[in-house]
Amino acid sequence: MTARVIDGKAVAAGVRERVAAEVAELAPRLGREPGLATVLTGDDPASQVYVRNKRQACEEAGMRSIHHDLPADVAEERVLAVVDELNADQRVDGILVQLPLPDGIDQDAVVDRIDAAKDVDGLTAASAGRLAQGRPGLVPCTPAGVMELLREAGPPIEGAEAVIVGRSILVGRPLSALLLNANASVTVCHSRTRDLAATCRRADVLVAAVGSPRLVEGGWVKPGATVIDVGINRTDDGLVGDVDFDVAREVAGAITPVPGGVGPMTIAMLLSNTLAAARARAA
Ligand code: NAP
Repeated sequence: MTARVIDGKAVAAGVRERVAAEVAELAPRLGREPGLATVLTGDDPASQVYVRNKRQACEEAGMRSIHHDLPADVAEERVLAVVDELNADQRVDGILVQLPLPDGIDQDAVVDRIDAAKDVDGLTAASAGRLAQGRPGLVPCTPAGVMELLREAGPPIEGAEAVIVGRSILVGRPLSALLLNANASVTVCHSRTRDLAATCRRADVLVAAVGSPRLVEGGWVKPGATVIDVGINRTDDGLVGDVDFDVAREVAGAITPVPGGVGPMTIAMLLSNTLAAARARAA
């Protein structure tokens, strides 16, 4: 069996088109464009690129981008004051503080200062708590993108055995709550999991979010399973995921490539979250 390759670029483009159409409808009712504020600290080139791409995508969707650039030696109080300003700013629907923050700044304190109603990255303890309790709220963008791809892949999530490799706050943990809320039976694996291969082999839905090139071997995949590869690893062969794609695609029913799978979904879901935040604030 050769798996269907899930086209994350096409799914992301669909989400972005839907968001742009809904923004065009919502803006006249709001009397303004929905606004996404980004806060960038320091001069890390990768972070600069991520923020630039997010701002550009936001403008392409017809939303307003508001940006704060802060120096690497900025004091924590100043970052908190910027977040407070953005919390109070009626033109701002979503706030994204690009991580990591410079050494010496308490990242949790800064993230938790974001008003949960504007938490479009879904990383505050308040948003995580709502998600864990199965209550509505803003959800981290990468796991939200994984759920969109799973819906696109076809087989029902309800009743499925889902295995996630990785338990980070950014991906594995929120994804486990999303899958549980969608009525999957969820197992979360990590570096201390005893028999990773056997656990993965049980999965109807297998998600790898580790950061270890081609860790998941073809023999770990249950025939016909849906495999979602969140990993992005730079190697001598170029960008590869956490799944051994060439082998796994011969076993799986559907699989995401790297690049072109989960990656494009993250920004699309950020736009979708900003639209949702603008709608909820207008209601
Ligand atoms: P992370 O915070 O480093 O977490 C990695 C997780 O993998 C940890 O829970 C760790 O276990 C587990 N792990 C490490 N080695 C393992 C092993 N040998 N066997 C089983 N589990 C193992 O990483 P992350 O932020 O979740 O990111 C994971 C990957 O996704 C990275 O490649 C990252 O670049 C990528 N990513 C992509 C996107 C996107 O937009 N596509 C977004 C975010 C992240 P412990 O908890 O026990 O240490």
